[in-house]
Amino acid sequence: MRMYVAGNWLEKADKIEVLNPFDGLVIDTVPRATLDDVEQALASAIEGAKVMRKLTPYDRSVILKRAAELVEQRAEDLAQTITLEEGKIIKESRVEVSRAVETLTVSAEEAKRLSGEMVPLDGAPGSGNRLGFTLRIPCGVVAAISPFNFPLNLVAHKVGPALAAGNSVIVKPATDTPLSALKLTEILLEAGLPPLALQCITGSGSEIGDSLCSDRRIRKITFTGSREVGERICRMAGLKKVTMELGSNSPLIVMPDADLEKVCQSIVATGYSNAGQVCISTQRVLVLKSAYDELLEALRPRVEAILTGNPLDEKTLMGPMIRERDAVRVESWVREALDGGASLLTGGQRAGSLFSPTVVAGVKPEMRMSCEELFGPAVAITPAESIEQAIFMANDSHYGLSAGIFTQDLDWAMKFAREVDSGNLHINWGPQWRADLMPYGGLKESGFGKEGPKYAVQEMTELKMVVWHLT
Ligand code: NAP
Repeated sequence: MRMYVAGNWLEKADKIEVLNPFDGLVIDTVPRATLDDVEQALASAIEGAKVMRKLTPYDRSVILKRAAELVEQRAEDLAQTITLEEGKIIKESRVEVSRAVETLTVSAEEAKRLSGEMVPLDGAPGSGNRLGFTLRIPCGVVAAISPFNFPLNLVAHKVGPALAAGNSVIVKPATDTPLSALKLTEILLEAGLPPLALQCITGSGSEIGDSLCSDRRIRKITFTGSREVGERICRMAGLKKVTMELGSNSPLIVMPDADLEKVCQSIVATGYSNAGQVCISTQRVLVLKSAYDELLEALRPRVEAILTGNPLDEKTLMGPMIRERDAVRVESWVREALDGGASLLTGGQRAGSLFSPTVVAGVKPEMRMSCEELFGPAVAITPAESIEQAIFMANDSHYGLSAGIFTQDLDWAMKFAREVDSGNLHINWGPQWRADLMPYGGLKESGFGKEGPKYAVQEMTELKMVVWHLT
């Protein structure tokens, strides 16, 4: 596919191959953008921001609603594209497409709800006879940098609210998965978006990222990706608004009164979908000792039943990881835990980029597969003596994106909700669950700022205060 810059679909002699993670075959190519392309995108986005500012919220809403309809009409093509470039199973890709429809629809609704408020200035001493109100205005140009693992919906989560708020946007999709973002760009233009309001620039983040993020014409950066890249972007950003949606090593606490059948169901659903490459995948299961043996026994056959293979095959339940080197990393972290005294309940095998669904028991908190973000299809099980110890272990992390607890006890559930330092908290489900309208984002080094269109439009606008000094 071509990239979209300055109102044109551009080819370049220097191309990046987009590979199918399952078989390594080239599925398409995209241009490798240069710093000159970044400059063109920026200059054009400035013009686009002027055009967007003049559109009414109603106009913006109509465009986004129409885009949502077009995504729905092209659902199967988009789902196939996601599976081909990202490797998740086709069923999960279809869910991602329907979530993108929802994200765009909610963004369209939020476009109409942007408003300021009256400020009762006469409530302040000596401020009578003044009328105060706020105006919410677009930031201007938004840079939207997205990761590989949800190549359609996470782009929609940035572009939808940014356009709803009246900004122009420069999208920089992940190099491994640029096709879904380019198809969304086509759809938004077809839906009536002014040609300069959106740029979709393909190219390596390490080559073009710094110049994009440090440029003063960008007023807002919204980034989803790894902690390391997020930290670099924050340094480059200088005095701009920034939203950071970063990683985690999400914990799930299992109390002795938990329904173990449901716990197993949840671990399978939240630990292995997209081959564990979800920022809120269940990574650490912290089980109260009295339930430990029973959980391991119940979990093993459930995980062994996850059929791996070609993600386009409707029967496959888990596909490959994005790159072979990531599967090699997961394999080495699992090996390291086993060498340190943990035991393999099931899995641990690798064939190229496919890593078998794995459970490692007796994992110590200091082992890498527990204390760092694993981002792969392996779950670490660790026994805990008490809820206090489980909460301590849950919080013993630089991350704080999502966490879960299984219990029937109201006091334990509430203690978990109040004491676990996490942006999302799930009672009687694993950490991996999201409705696209909810506020979503992490604490600690999992990031700052919230996504979810209602919350993201706040992040993508500025507040102006107007004071009318009456006579
Ligand atoms: P990544 O390596 O950090 O890449 C994310 C994006 O940043 C890509 O578009 C990448 O471009 C770009 N990039 C790389 N270096 C850059 C630089 N110097 N300046 C600007 N942009 C740069 O992350 P990933 O491997 O794609 O995704 C996995 C990570 O995302 C995990 O840590 C996961 O937890 C996190 N994630 C978080 C959430 C959330 O909502 N909190 C959701 C999904 C994923 P290239 O592809 O060209 O390198």
